[in-house]
Amino acid sequence: MEIKVSALTKIFRSPSGEEVRALKEVDLTIPANRIFTLLGPSGCGKTTLLRCIVGLEVPDSGEIAIGDTVVWSKKQRIFIPPNKRGIGMVFQTYAIWPHMTVFDNVAYPLQVRRLPREEIRRRVRETLKFVKLEGLENRPATALSGGQQQRVALARALVSEPKVILFDEPLSNLDAKLREETRRELRRFLTELRITAVYVTHDRLEALTLSDLVAVMREGVVVEVGTPLDIYFRPKHKFVADFIGKANFIEGTVESTSEDLIRVVTPMGPIACRRAEGLTPGQRVTVCVRPEAIAIDRPGDTSGGTNTFRGRVVSLLFVGENYEGEVAVGKTILAIKTNPAFPIGEGEEVSVYIDPAQCHILME
Ligand code: ADP
Ligand code: MG
Repeated sequence: MEIKVSALTKIFRSPSGEEVRALKEVDLTIPANRIFTLLGPSGCGKTTLLRCIVGLEVPDSGEIAIGDTVVWSKKQRIFIPPNKRGIGMVFQTYAIWPHMTVFDNVAYPLQVRRLPREEIRRRVRETLKFVKLEGLENRPATALSGGQQQRVALARALVSEPKVILFDEPLSNLDAKLREETRRELRRFLTELRITAVYVTHDRLEALTLSDLVAVMREGVVVEVGTPLDIYFRPKHKFVADFIGKANFIEGTVESTSEDLIRVVTPMGPIACRRAEGLTPGQRVTVCVRPEAIAIDRPGDTSGGTNTFRGRVVSLLFVGENYEGEVAVGKTILAIKTNPAFPIGEGEEVSVYIDPAQCHILME
């Protein structure tokens, strides 16, 4: 089911009368049967938006619809309670009950609804099979690994066959290796289910690997929505480019827009960039270049060509699969990444080449 959020505002008021505008007129369409991620720094309003959708938080103005049903509207005075919205939810702390068995944990939402015993048994079995926990029905929940506990929480959210499932940073309590495994598994489960999933995280890698679409949030506002590839390679905003990965930002002025490539004059020299619409000569812009798009070579080999510059290595740091470092081109310092097999050292002169296709002009 599609979720439509219109002009949603939520203001928290502290006892001392201070106001926090956690959501500011948020407009968002979350398409049906996709994995949609809300990504942003801590405190930007992700949890608040999720809690408004599920009905645990009452907004101050706007409207929320799930499918054709308006579940909350200020104007129409509609408030459908959480348990009538058809939503499953998985929280950061899995909130599974340690004193209960796996079976009882998963069966709980159905027992509350007083379904017949046989139906409960059948649905719990099916769900546990789906999340690959069959055979563990009678284990106490505490006798499970972190990853298995996470799957119990998922099973409990799925057992009521919700139309929508919401996740609030569900992997943040797992260690790095398990988080990666669980992320993969979760993507497989959700893709197979074809359910509308809204996933909240502050972890850019999680957002990029798990999602069909990502909405980047900042201070109560959705800044930009796009596919993982869009927001990584073709972000519209500097904030998004910066948040989603390491990036170099080079300020400059558009010189010509007539050719296939757009020439931008910058302090490090002219940079040929990938075409972008709506630019005029003389316009101030920011060129965004990812460190991995910058190729370093011995000096003199390729100098003089388009987007080839002379530089000097300022710093190099070995980080495992490659070096991260900085190269100075004139007064401009560029973050780079380079193969550890390539023999360069700090202070050395190098030739720097940036593929124009990877020079992206930011509009704002
Ligand atoms: P996120 O999940 O992105 O980290 P939240 O939605 O939890 O952010 O919070 C958004 C803003 O609203 C923050 O400034 C937070 O301090 C504030 N906030 C959240 N819940 C409450 C609350 N119950 N009372 C007061 N302020 C709150
Ligand atoms: Mg949160």
